[in-house]
This record gives sequence, C-alpha cells and structure tokens, in this order.
Amino acid sequence: MSQVRVRFAPSPTGFFHIGSARTALFNWLYARHTEGTFVLRIEDTDKERNSEPFLKVIYDSLTWLGLNWDEGPGKGGAFGPYRQSERGEIYQAYLQKLKDADRIYEKDGAIWFRLLGERYEVYDEHRQKTVTKVRTAPTVITDRIRGHVERVEDEDFVIIRSDGNPVFHFVNVVDDIAMQITHVIRGEDHLSNTSKHVELFKAFGAPVPEFAHIPLILKQNGPGKMSKRDQGALVEEYQRRGFLPDALVNFLCLLGWNPGDDREKMPMEEIVRLFDLPGVNQSNARFDEKKLAHMNMVYLLELPPGEFLARSRDYFEQQGVSDALTADEAYFREVMLLSQPKIKGFEELPAYTAYFFTAEFPIDEKVKAKVMAKGEPKTRLSEVLALVPGMDLSSDEAIENTIKNLAESSGQGFGAYQSIIRLALTGTNVGPSITGIIRVLGRDKVRQRLEQFLQTL
Ligand code: GLU
Repeated sequence: MSQVRVRFAPSPTGFFHIGSARTALFNWLYARHTEGTFVLRIEDTDKERNSEPFLKVIYDSLTWLGLNWDEGPGKGGAFGPYRQSERGEIYQAYLQKLKDADRIYEKDGAIWFRLLGERYEVYDEHRQKTVTKVRTAPTVITDRIRGHVERVEDEDFVIIRSDGNPVFHFVNVVDDIAMQITHVIRGEDHLSNTSKHVELFKAFGAPVPEFAHIPLILKQNGPGKMSKRDQGALVEEYQRRGFLPDALVNFLCLLGWNPGDDREKMPMEEIVRLFDLPGVNQSNARFDEKKLAHMNMVYLLELPPGEFLARSRDYFEQQGVSDALTADEAYFREVMLLSQPKIKGFEELPAYTAYFFTAEFPIDEKVKAKVMAKGEPKTRLSEVLALVPGMDLSSDEAIENTIKNLAESSGQGFGAYQSIIRLALTGTNVGPSITGIIRVLGRDKVRQRLEQFLQTL
C-alpha cells in the first residue's frame, strides 16, 4: 500500500449526480492506480439541507458502480468518524489550534479566520460598502491537472457562523489534515475555494495536499454545466433503467480522461493501470447520452449468457413483468438469449419479448395493412401452416432451409414468407430473426398462432 490517500466528500443534499459519480470514480481510480487509500467522508454539517435518504442514495450508487471505499461509513478506519456531523470535538480542537496561533477573532457573533498582512479599507462598488482588505501575496495552487494557479485571497473569512455551525472551508480542511489526505481531487467548481483552503492548511502548519480540479461536465445540448435537473443526470436513473454499471463506469472514465489513444471500451484493470492525474483533460467534457447508450449495448453484447439471463430476470422482477417471470425457465432462457444481440438495454426487453409470453399480443394494424397489400399472404401462410407438423425445428438453419425450399417450389421470394409469418407470430415487423422466433416459440405455439391469424383474414 502506498502513502496516497484520497477522499470523496459528498454532501447528502440531493440525488447522486453523474458529476459526483465521476469525481468519486477519479478518486477511486487514482487510489487503485497508486495502491493508495480511498476514503469516503460525508460532509453533512449543514443540518437543514442534509437528509438520510440522500445518504442512502450515495452509498447505494457507489456500491452499484463498484466504487468500494477503504475507509468510511460502514467500513470504519483509523481516522473516523467519517461523518462530519459526528466530528464536533475534532473541530473544537482544531479551532483551538487556530486560536493559539492567534489566527481567529470574533465579529458579529461569527468566528473569522485572519489572513496575515497589512490591513486597509476600501469601498467595494459591487457590495456597496467599505471592506477591510489585507495586503497579501497571491496564493499559489499546484494543480495536477491545471498546473500552476495563482489566486489572491485578500479578505478574512468566516469559519464558524453565528449560529455555531462551521463553514465548509473550515471542516473540509480540518478533515483533510486529520485524515491525512495527500491528494484533493474534486470538481473545478471548487477551484475558487482552494486558495482559502491553502491559507488554512498553512495556518495549521500542515502540509498542503496536491490538488487536481476536474473539468466540468457540460450539458448535452447547449451551453453550460450539466445540472441535477438535466435529463440523464442522476445515477439511480440508470440503475433503475437496467444499465450495466460497468458500462456507465467505462463511459464516465472517458468524461475528461482518455487512454492516450481512441480506445473506448476498456477493461477496468487496464483503466486502473493507465489512469493518472496529468492524463485528465483541462477542457470541459460534454455529456453524450447516445454514447452512453452505445457503450451499454457493447457491454450487453459481451455479457456471458448466464449473467445476461440473471440480469434480465432481475430487471423483469423489478418491473413486475409477470408473464415472463411465470414462464418455463428454459423457455425464458431461450427468449432472452435470442434477444441479447438485438437490444440496446434491459429497459427494451419487456416490450421486445412480450409476444413470446402471451398469446394475446396486439397486431400492428399499419404493418398488417402493408403486409396484406402485397402478393398472396393468405396462400403463403397456409403453405407454411401445412409444413409445421413435420418441420425440423432443431436449428435455425433447418427452419431456414424448409422455408427456402418452400419459396423455391412456389416461385416466391423468402421475404414474401418472412413478413407474413412474422406478422402472424408476433404482430409486428421488428424483432429477432424469424427462424429464431419459430424455433423458440416451438411447434404448438407456431401452429396455433398461424391458424388463429388465418381465421382473422
Ligand atoms: N462537500 C463538498 C462537495 O460536495 C466536497 C468538496 C471537496 O471535495 O473538497 O462539493
């Protein structure tokens, strides 16, 4: 194990956002890459805005994504407790350190952090009042992604509010010191806080960690940062829709990082091996839901059959699709494996496979009108029906040969049979291969459905 200690420090004030997931992921990747420690710390000092259900969403989403933490809630560790709401005594002790160093004072009921330097008064146009400024040298931030950043921090700031609640800057820095965090990897929106944080680290006489500010995620359409309200922004939404967590993680890796070439689907071990902070882009990354859907499809295709099956069943259970769940297990398996190469995500499965599990499937009237308008579909169907009792159903090839022979002897194309058979068996013109459908439905269902359909003509 190396000395590297990173942390993901969410505030449970809302649902778990794609941007938060990516910050967690980059921390996790860096910890695994360096064989360091990944700490989960909950920043819940703001009693009014935090809620337990949101906390659960954080734990569940991280677990679902496979971003296991080495220290933190539910896991323990030598630097706990890992929820800021339980660390009051630690903050008192650190406040005392600042007091002993003469770096705090009280004003208007709040406790302020005092910067070092000569003070002067100036009228601030923007705030329309006279403010006290401090003559300071710029604060230097060494950022592993953005390089050398300088910011001027020239006003004292509050660290404990008049209601006694500590301010984010204070507890965030105290915990990074107390938890011996070596690298602070977080969203670029925090860059404006970092100079304050650096000044606090210095006031405590603590080593300043390395920083890495990750570029923002831009919304799919239009300018601006992706927000919690944007479509596709919440992690749990993907979980509910049956996305594969590995696919989502792979996609998130590429939001601001690349392996140095144009590879996209990559095994996690490979990403862990290659991931490094200087490799993170400085420019913002644009969220692209189509790319995510495609990544999910690529992962789906490669899923071993057993796993595809288990996950399909989970999805049907979650959705309460009883027809499929009460079907014969071997039959369910055949239907799922026939569909695996055809779907983009589990959310398509119930509708895509519905007609396999019920005889009362709807007939798409538009498709029907089109199919019935060409050739002599009724005759074609009767010819097929006559062959069904003796048809070799042992493989797709055998079925294909039967229909091909029939097509040849009648002088019709294969297509003329295909569309009418599909309509009679499924009610639509899309789906898996017609030979696969016949094989999986089996002789009895095929005969019944063809007969039934013929009667309606
Ligand atoms: N609680 C802060 C947030 O959720 C953490 C910032 C940090 O990583 O330092 O944005």
